[in-house]
Amino acid sequence: MKITTKADVWKAAIAMTVIAYSIVSIAILKLYPREEWLWELSVSGMLTISICMVATYNFGLKVLENHQLSLELQRLVSRDRLTDAATRDFFYERMQRDPDAYGVSLMVDIDHFKSINDTYGHLVGDDVIRHVSSILRSECRAQDIVCRFGGEEFVVFLHEADGDKGLLVAERMRMKVEAAPALSNEQKVSVTVSIGGSLKERMEDINVSIKQADEALYRAKNLGRNRTIVNWLPTPFEDTTRRAS
Ligand code: GH3
Ligand code: MG
Ligand code: MG
Repeated sequence: MKITTKADVWKAAIAMTVIAYSIVSIAILKLYPREEWLWELSVSGMLTISICMVATYNFGLKVLENHQLSLELQRLVSRDRLTDAATRDFFYERMQRDPDAYGVSLMVDIDHFKSINDTYGHLVGDDVIRHVSSILRSECRAQDIVCRFGGEEFVVFLHEADGDKGLLVAERMRMKVEAAPALSNEQKVSVTVSIGGSLKERMEDINVSIKQADEALYRAKNLGRNRTIVNWLPTPFEDTTRRAS
C-alpha cells in the first residue's frame, strides 16, 4: 500500500488494527473457554485499538513525511529555484535517457541583460528572468522541455518538431517577450531575447545540437539581437566585421 496522503495513513492504520484484532480474536477463541470470550475479546479489542492504531498511525505519518521529503528532494534536483524551469542536470538526464529523441533545440538568451541588472538592480533582473521563463514555458507542450541553462540563458527542446514548427514556436516566443514587458515592483521592464535553433536527429548527441544552436544564437546576436536564427536555413546577410552592441 502506497502512503502519499493523510487519508492513506488512516486507511493503513485501520487496516493494520483490523488485521491485528482478527489475529488476537482467533487466538482468544482457540485458547480461552467460551464463557471468557466476551471479556477477553473486549479487553483485547480496546488494547489492540489503542496500541496498534496509535503505533501504526505514527509509523504511517513518518512514512508520509519521508515520501514528502523525497518529492521535495526530487523537485530541488529537477527544477531551477528561481524560475521553476528544468535544471541543466535534469535536462541532460532526460535527454540521455531518450537518445532516440528528435526535434528542435533552441538556445534562448536575454538581450543586454547586464544593463537591465545595472539599471534596475539584480532583484528586478531576477523577475525578468522569471518572466521570460514563464513565456517560454507557456509556448511549450507537456512533452517539451524548458531548461535554465545558465544565468539568463535557456535551452528549449521541442520534441518531434520539424524545422517549420521549430521556427514558428521560436518566433512566437521571441515576439511574446518583446510585446509583454516584465512587471517588477510596479515598473515595466522591456526586454527582448535572441534565439538560435538547430535540428536534433535521432541518436545524435544532444551536445552537438546545443552547440549548433549556440552558434546560431551567436549569429542572431551579431545581426543585431531580438531575432531568431536557425541553422537549417541560410543566415541573412551578416556583417562579420563588427559585433553589434
Ligand atoms: P547579450 O545581449 O550579448 O547576451 O548581453 P548580456 O548583457 O545579456 O550578456 P552578459 O553575458 O554580458 O551578461 C549576463 C549577465 O547576467 C551577467 C550576470 O551578472 C547576469 N546574471 C546571471 N545570472 C543571473 C541571475 O540569476 N540573476 C540576475 N539578476 N542576473 C544574473
Ligand atoms: Mg544575454
Ligand atoms: Mg548569456
